[in-house]
Amino acid sequence: MCPFLDTASASHPALIDSNHALQQSILATVPDAMVVIDEAGTILLFSDAACRMFGYDASEAVGQNVRGLMPNPDRDRHDHYMRHYMETGEAHVIGIGRITTARRRDGSTFPIELAVGEARGDSGRLFTGFIRDLTEMRRAERRLADLQAELSHISRVSAMGSLASALAHELNQPLTAISSYAEGARALLGEDGTPAAGDIDMVRDALAEASGQALRAGQIVRRLREFISRGESERSVERLRRLVTEAAALALTGAGPSNIDFEIRLDPTVDRVLVDRIQIQQVLFNLIRNAVEAMQSASRQRLAVYSQHLPSAKGAAGLVKVTVADSGPGLAPAVAAVLFQPFNTSKAKGMGLGLSICRTIVEAHGGRIWAEASEFGGTAFHFTLEIAEEPQDD
Ligand code: ADP
Repeated sequence: MCPFLDTASASHPALIDSNHALQQSILATVPDAMVVIDEAGTILLFSDAACRMFGYDASEAVGQNVRGLMPNPDRDRHDHYMRHYMETGEAHVIGIGRITTARRRDGSTFPIELAVGEARGDSGRLFTGFIRDLTEMRRAERRLADLQAELSHISRVSAMGSLASALAHELNQPLTAISSYAEGARALLGEDGTPAAGDIDMVRDALAEASGQALRAGQIVRRLREFISRGESERSVERLRRLVTEAAALALTGAGPSNIDFEIRLDPTVDRVLVDRIQIQQVLFNLIRNAVEAMQSASRQRLAVYSQHLPSAKGAAGLVKVTVADSGPGLAPAVAAVLFQPFNTSKAKGMGLGLSICRTIVEAHGGRIWAEASEFGGTAFHFTLEIAEEPQDD
């Protein structure tokens, strides 16, 4: 009898006879891909939807280790994850679910939503994974997001227009005043550049007024910058691993079947960061999506997201440097010169806003963003984040 059904509920006499038929009908009809594994990670059951999703026949998949369905780094680490769970009971996926990336038979990767349940049978523990392919769902969401981005681009441009005219109006007053005080002072200087004795005080006053007005202009600009940077932002302590895996799963979607050799290498000594999750995922998404687009015609497509702890001299927790490296053609010199400036793009349909948004977000988090040549011969974007001081439990 299959261990999957070797449970108390399956010991009902009516079920014992029909176990095999029942199992077959579940496997054939369950809409999400279903994979059952044992404690060693060996696949025991592989549903029809899983066959379609991953490109294996059930007879090929059963008996293999489930890590073959994952790209790295999960593939190499899965045995460790399972051992860790068996020893500590500390679950990262089981009973929680997560968005991650899976790997088809042909090596291509795709984003999935994974839910894992656990059952304890006489012959040990069993884990049932339900896997939903997010490709189509994300494609539809992306179309919507593209549309929204276009709309918000339009509204941003018109908002910038009204902001600029308000700013011009406000700044016009002190600038006009500065100009007339300066002009007045110049007139008082007389032909030979020396003011008449009685006029010296007036020249001094005019210059004092002019410098006061210049300070006022500075305040207006400062107020405006504060206003802009007060955008809605909610910071919380987040796990960098989660931010990266989710953003990568979303960004790798819809790029079509790809042969990107993708790896995530995160510094194990630092994981907690104090960030606005959505904003930092937006940064990662933009950088990964740019990397994927840049590699479209590269013969070898390599993409890596990695992190490195940059300890602080002052005893504070320090910074973490996050890198997105690709094997694309590198930055075109004309683009490199104005890389983070808005409306600068080399793409026919690009808006040239991605990197300027990334810079605004990273700088609002107190970090820095820059680009260099990558170890794979393409481009590497790096940005820094502050490490969260206080670890918090899940
Ligand atoms: P968009 O993607 O709409 O063009 P971005 O601001 O995200 O806007 O990018 C600006 C430009 O920077 C791109 O058009 C491209 O020329 C260049 N670029 C960004 N990322 C990369 C990369 N990983 N490799 C090569 N060029 C890149």
